[in-house]
Amino acid sequence: MPPKSWKDYVPRYVSLYYVDYNENLDSREDLQERCIRRNSLHPLEEQVWEWYAEQEHDNLQGYLADIRKAMEADGKADEYARNEEGIKDLLYERNSIDPTDELIDNSAVTNMFYSLGVEIEGYVYGSNARKESEAISLRKIRRALKLKKGQFADELHELLANAPYGGELRIYFNAIFSRLLTGDTGNDFKRIRFYGDVIVAIADSRNGAGYHVRLPTDITLPFCRDNLFTDSQVHYSYANEICGMLNSWCDSTRWETGMKPLKSTMRKSRMSEHQKQEALYEKRFREGGCTLGDMNHKRHRNTYYINSFPCGTKCPHCGTFWID
Ligand SMILES: [Zn+2]
Repeated sequence: MPPKSWKDYVPRYVSLYYVDYNENLDSREDLQERCIRRNSLHPLEEQVWEWYAEQEHDNLQGYLADIRKAMEADGKADEYARNEEGIKDLLYERNSIDPTDELIDNSAVTNMFYSLGVEIEGYVYGSNARKESEAISLRKIRRALKLKKGQFADELHELLANAPYGGELRIYFNAIFSRLLTGDTGNDFKRIRFYGDVIVAIADSRNGAGYHVRLPTDITLPFCRDNLFTDSQVHYSYANEICGMLNSWCDSTRWETGMKPLKSTMRKSRMSEHQKQEALYEKRFREGGCTLGDMNHKRHRNTYYINSFPCGTKCPHCGTFWID
């Protein structure tokens, strides 16, 4: 038998991390959104390293202590000391648990939307006239969804009638967010296909309103990452904040991505601008201030009601006024 090398003391299977099945990313859709934006798992991995650093350290020390004890028992204390760095490297190499993967595996699907980059105009405030006729709105929707005239006429009428404020035209679907990453910014997806019972919504994230319908259709669109969003991270979020729906509500939309380019192009969604604006409002509020024009009550302090015409609520700090 050849003499035992220090490598023989390192177990073949090493787990430097333990991720409980209860641990997942369901309450960390902010991190998921950051990964979607960057087409990379990196924003998540950075967090995971932080979360699991202590556990990794403790587990590594545990393995080292066991190996040291075993080698000392065989009279190899010196060999251990000489090779400790090599032993550490080998432990990392043999580690079979990636906590990022485990957390993703434990996570539920996330409500996502793909913006068609089309804004449907709603009613003019305080009047009963739409800014655009239903015929024009319908034409915009049909063009965006590549529908023939008359196709899904009832559903589209229902959609428009129930979204009086208008908003952005979106397709809602559920996804494990990591399946929407190529991890290579230079080589992103080129197309995305939606089929099954496709959930089509008009959602107004600025004012918090919207409606959706289910269309049994099949549509392939150019993939434009700027049009892809984690719903909960665009306020007001349609599924949570506006409708309060169960996570599974948009399961019926099936989807797949592809790498073959399409000739057509996507109109850009306005939501990334909106998201940036929201982030600025949040930051200002956390720093103790507020912003004129930010219509989210929660980001103002000491607002009070004015009971004379025009009635409404006012913020004494920035002057934002919510008319009744
Ligand atoms: Zn204010």
